[in-house]
Amino acid sequence: MTAFWTEADYDDHEHVQLVHDRASGLTAIIALHSTHLGPGAGGTRFWHYPDPKDAMRDALRLSRGMSYKNAMAGLPMGGGKAVILASKDKSKTEEMLAAFGDTVNGLAGRYITAEDVGISEADMVVVSKRTDYVSGLPVSGKDAAGGDPGPFTAMGIYLGIKAAVKHKLGKESVSGVHIAIQGIGSVGGGVARLLAHDGAKLTLSDINEDRARAMAGELGGEFSAPGSIMGVSCDVFSPNALGAILDDAGIARLDAPIVAGGANNQLARQGHGKMLAERGILFAPDYVINAGGIISVAMEYICKRDGDPCDINEVRKRIAQIPGRLEEIWRESESSGVSSDAVADRMAQKLIGR
Ligand code: NAD
Repeated sequence: MTAFWTEADYDDHEHVQLVHDRASGLTAIIALHSTHLGPGAGGTRFWHYPDPKDAMRDALRLSRGMSYKNAMAGLPMGGGKAVILASKDKSKTEEMLAAFGDTVNGLAGRYITAEDVGISEADMVVVSKRTDYVSGLPVSGKDAAGGDPGPFTAMGIYLGIKAAVKHKLGKESVSGVHIAIQGIGSVGGGVARLLAHDGAKLTLSDINEDRARAMAGELGGEFSAPGSIMGVSCDVFSPNALGAILDDAGIARLDAPIVAGGANNQLARQGHGKMLAERGILFAPDYVINAGGIISVAMEYICKRDGDPCDINEVRKRIAQIPGRLEEIWRESESSGVSSDAVADRMAQKLIGR
């Protein structure tokens, strides 16, 4: 028992629940980091962990990350996360999802769930049959808020990149600005299209090389092999694939004055934010620039709860505040000499009363 409270990733989490349902075979962890600003909101990850300790680590870290992200997005939401421990073959049944829904329901609204890695919209529909504390459900109508968060995340990152280019390079537009994008999936692909529309010069990379080549051709950009993208000489490096890419070796390879992209947990360790600052690289803290998706998901939930029609313009208005938040962080970082990631963490901690 004592070991848990001293666990490196345990950060005064309010509630950590271990779930096992013998009938369905569900094994899960639900972690609520903070409900200071509202119910803990964050997706459910469905993943096979050879060592269950890694599942606990993910639940603790990711729920704290959601507290920070939701607070910095100005949402009336705390931070939570669920992890379902999948078997090696990742088999997933309706019974399992139903049992998970019952567990979420048992928390009586302290935790609001949604999709994360390994969980689809269709899975959330199954969960929603057992509890109302769900978001990220399919929406009808083009002006309805909610649904796939990817395009909203992409919009926030695009606006954040424009803010970074203005702050660091003094340019009002990204026209002619060279941006190297790692990962052109739901988020990175959306960012690439928005930037191409403004005339940015793009270099695109993905482990799905055919897709990256095709998109580079379509948008008039260049292709880079996945192993080379971090060393491309450019104005902005935009990571939109994996976490922990900004480690000692990764930072040493960068040849860009700005790093701004949507991948979660880009810094391998906290000290790497300082290392970027020491190299004179402007860094957009990931959980601030990539909040567009959670803004959409949270607004969908709040509107449904309150019985209000959810106007997509309200979501857009909130996403448009992301550049202002980044500006505030960069200004504070420059005046205090503290790296931008640490400034963002301090701001978030203050907002959640810590
Ligand atoms: P996705 O699966 O649609 O796209 C990821 C892309 O990255 C894929 O095309 C994949 O082939 C590529 N990729 C994987 N490894 C790579 C590598 N080593 N080099 C180059 N490309 C690689 O996922 P997504 O929804 O676009 O999410 C991308 C990142 O953004 C993730 O880190 C995710 O956690 C984060 N994020 C996503 C959202 C969202 O709304 N989808 C919100 C916040 C943060």
